[in-house]
Amino acid sequence: MLVLNGKEVAKEVRSSLAPRVTRFMKEFGRAPHLAVVLVGDDGASHVYVKNKKIACESIGMSSTIHNMPTSTTQQELDDKIQELNQDPAVDGILVQFPLPKHLNSDEVLRQIAPGKDADSLTYESMGLFFAGRADVKPCTPEGVMTMLRHYGIAVEGKRAVVVGRSNIVGKPMAQLLTDANATVTVCHSRTKNLSEFTRQADLVVVAAGKARMLGKEDFKKDAIVIDVGIHRDGPGGKLCGDVRFEELTQWAQAATPVPGGVGPMTIATLLQNTCLLAEKRAGLR
Ligand code: NAD
Repeated sequence: MLVLNGKEVAKEVRSSLAPRVTRFMKEFGRAPHLAVVLVGDDGASHVYVKNKKIACESIGMSSTIHNMPTSTTQQELDDKIQELNQDPAVDGILVQFPLPKHLNSDEVLRQIAPGKDADSLTYESMGLFFAGRADVKPCTPEGVMTMLRHYGIAVEGKRAVVVGRSNIVGKPMAQLLTDANATVTVCHSRTKNLSEFTRQADLVVVAAGKARMLGKEDFKKDAIVIDVGIHRDGPGGKLCGDVRFEELTQWAQAATPVPGGVGPMTIATLLQNTCLLAEKRAGLR
């Protein structure tokens, strides 16, 4: 089985961005800048945000983390987003989800300026994306497509199944695979006999958010399996995905591990999107 190494591919994506960052710095005297808003003290979110900052800095991009306490009101959060919208030195804005329960993520998505929407989550970005007119695409699904291209895995004509229908992963993943000429079925929590669908697929993208839910018996021989899920086995425990990766070694054609698969690709795509937004705003594209 071919292990699809997201760490390696993400490194290549970052290397390809570095000259663009250098050129931007030369022309504008500053680096493309990602602002991340983090509300509350969710441990996993703090780790994700720190990793995004490290990745930015590894290629000379700048990144600021705006930490806000759990007690932050909707108005305070909206004001912070407006401040970043208006800051000419900020190119990309990302509000780390999940938010504390009293805050409305829908409202947050209405606040972010579409021209700074590095995660492609605002309703304007989503509309452009589903109409096939977006410059930046949702980070995780686009990262998966970059990885497939890197390994020369052609999607055209394949039967693909996407497990999950969230706005952030499942739906845009299905759209990108459709755009790449796969024949796509979307499965979800109300799908009956899920494995009847997954077992027929040449390519399965699993984004159900259920630890180790699918294994060898759920895939056909020589399937390509992309695991988006990410879970921690208790505090400080090992990371795992939605798929029992170890069962696939003599069975799948190719699969992504967790960690080191889709996760690094998501971050690399976020950097790519921020760079693109910076270049667009500066008139370089
Ligand atoms: P979500 O909870 O918003 O959506 C999960 C989807 O899975 C839903 O559409 C639901 O219908 C479906 N689902 C749930 N249980 C199912 C079941 N038993 N059978 C079939 N479908 C089922 O989650 P999300 O934001 O789309 O994220 C999914 C997973 O991916 C989570 O584990 C999340 O942490 C992870 N994630 C990873 C990255 C990354 O970069 N690796 C990025 C985003 C999300």
